[in-house]
Amino acid sequence: MSGSAIIPWVVGNWKMNPMQSDSQQLIQSLKQQLHTAPISAQQCRIAVAPTALALLNVQQQLKDSAVEISTVAQDLSRVAGTGAYTGEVSAELLKDSAVDYVLIGHSERREIFGDDVKIITEKVKNALNANLTVIYCVGESLAQRESGDAEQVVLQQICDLANVVSADQWQQIMIAYEPIWAIGTGKTASPEDAQAMHEKIRAGLTQLTQYGQKMAILYGGSVKADNAVALAACPDINGALVGGAALNAESFYQIAQAFAQVEK
Ligand code: PEP
Repeated sequence: MSGSAIIPWVVGNWKMNPMQSDSQQLIQSLKQQLHTAPISAQQCRIAVAPTALALLNVQQQLKDSAVEISTVAQDLSRVAGTGAYTGEVSAELLKDSAVDYVLIGHSERREIFGDDVKIITEKVKNALNANLTVIYCVGESLAQRESGDAEQVVLQQICDLANVVSADQWQQIMIAYEPIWAIGTGKTASPEDAQAMHEKIRAGLTQLTQYGQKMAILYGGSVKADNAVALAACPDINGALVGGAALNAESFYQIAQAFAQVEK
C-alpha cells in the first residue's frame, strides 16, 4: 500500500544562506510566482527554512503571500524551555514566535556538528512536547550504500524515533530521506532507488505506528526542476526537501508545481 493520498510538502532548506537583500528578492519572486499561478494547500504545501536569525523577518514578509508559505527552523536546542544556555534556541521559543516546524537530524548537523542519536532524539522530544511538527532527516553515506547497508542504516534512524515519540506524536512527524551522497552534489537517487527506500521507510513506519500510511516522506538530494516530475510520480515520495534549488524562486516554484500536479 502506498501513501499516495498524502498532501505533498515542498520545503526549501536555505541553510546558511542568503544575505538579507537576496533573501528579500527571493521571497518577492516566490510570492510573485504563486500570485500568478497559485498552488492550493490541497495540492502541495510549501515551506521555507531560513536561518534562525532570519526566521521572523521572513515570516513577516510572507504574511501577504497569496498562498500560505510556512516557515521552518533548521534546528533547535537539545535543551527545553528558557534559561542560561548561550547561543541556543529552544522548541518553546520557536513556538512562541509562531514557528511550527523544525528540521532535525539533517546530515550536515549529524556530520559537521556532531549531532548523534542522543542529541537528535532529545531535540525530537523537545520539539514534539512543544507541539512543533518535526521534519526528521535520515539517509546513508556513499560508503554505506556501496557496502549494501543503506536500508539498515536508514531503518535504524527511523527506529531511533520510537524511544521518544508517543503513539499520538507520530502525527507530528514527517520524514525526509536524504542520501548523503546526493546532497549538494548534483547526483540524485534515481526515482526507482528513491522509491525503493521510501517504500521500506513506509513499511518500517507502519510497524511502529498506526499513522505510517499517512505520514509524508519527502525526498532530498539535488532535487531540481528537471528531476522533480519523475520523483513526484513515485507513489511513496510525498514531497521534497530542497537545498540549492530552493535559492532560486523559479526552480523552487517549479518543484512545488511538479508535486502539486502529479496524479498518483
Ligand atoms: C539538503 O540539504 O537538504 C539538500 C537536499 O540539498 P540539495 O538539494 O542542495 O542537495
